[in-house]
Amino acid sequence: MSHFSGFVNIIGLPNVGKSTLMNVLLGEKMSIITNKPQTTRHRIIGIHNDMTHQIVFSDTPGYITEPKYGMQESMNDFVKGAFSDADIMILVIDITQPFDMEHPLFERLKKMDVPVFLILNKVDLCDDASILIQINQWKNAYPFKEIFPISALHQSGIDNLIHHIKELTPEGPPFYPKDQFTDRPERFFISEIIREKILLHYYQEIPYSCEVIVDTFKEDDEKELVRIHATIYVSRKSQKYILIGNKGSAIKQLGIDSRKSIELFLEKKVYLELFVKVKDNWRDDDRSLKQFGYKI
Ligand code: GDP
Ligand code: MG
Repeated sequence: MSHFSGFVNIIGLPNVGKSTLMNVLLGEKMSIITNKPQTTRHRIIGIHNDMTHQIVFSDTPGYITEPKYGMQESMNDFVKGAFSDADIMILVIDITQPFDMEHPLFERLKKMDVPVFLILNKVDLCDDASILIQINQWKNAYPFKEIFPISALHQSGIDNLIHHIKELTPEGPPFYPKDQFTDRPERFFISEIIREKILLHYYQEIPYSCEVIVDTFKEDDEKELVRIHATIYVSRKSQKYILIGNKGSAIKQLGIDSRKSIELFLEKKVYLELFVKVKDNWRDDDRSLKQFGYKI
């Protein structure tokens, strides 16, 4: 029996629904989602395996047109990386938002020699007539291999998309063992869950100044639980006080909410301890960016 395998890379501006789409394609929550832009910071790989296909999906950070600090530059580098190894590119557009057709991301896409799919996402917020108008505008802008109007949130149009992806996946052996779903360790997903909760619990610049590192992850077989210690790094002292809150109330809530989600993810009881440390200006500091995996 023939086997097909390929890399399908998802790109687009912040907040258009890339991570939601990735999770729906995989049938599993791999990438964190919030209604805030720049939720995704890394390139995250999720692998779909079945008898005949291995499709390696990459979710990327939203492309930041004017990066303000070193971390955002690295986030853009992850997006650029997604151009180099794709067998199929997927450009996700939020159909409710205007899109500048001269955007560098789109200009770069036009130079690709692999098939490019255009996803017009969030059609649940749009009427049929305006969807048709947009499809026609995009058809005139670039010869996309296919255009898919979908709702990632309501999972409509997904089966058709998967069908077309599979059709264009090149023949070849799998890149990863067929029982592997990602290239990241469990610790990474735990730090991402905590970061998602920080995005939900805190406002303005706070979530964007935080990085989460899981320091220890120990399975306690006797008590049938996992003990996790994680450190939240902030870039200024004042942020530490906000994160902790009055008498520790804010961080306590963050801990409870994070623990519940981690328990669902691991399907185990969890004991979670959170620490907060200041690492001055880490988002612009090369050493910290390396330590946190934004640079090699
Ligand atoms: P990303 O930044 O491109 O990865 O976007 P996310 O996947 O994090 O989604 C950003 C926001 O858009 C979240 O609040 C999602 O729930 C929402 N969203 C994603 N897909 C859809 C959709 O099809 N319809 C609607 N109405 N909202 C969506
Ligand atoms: Mg995302």
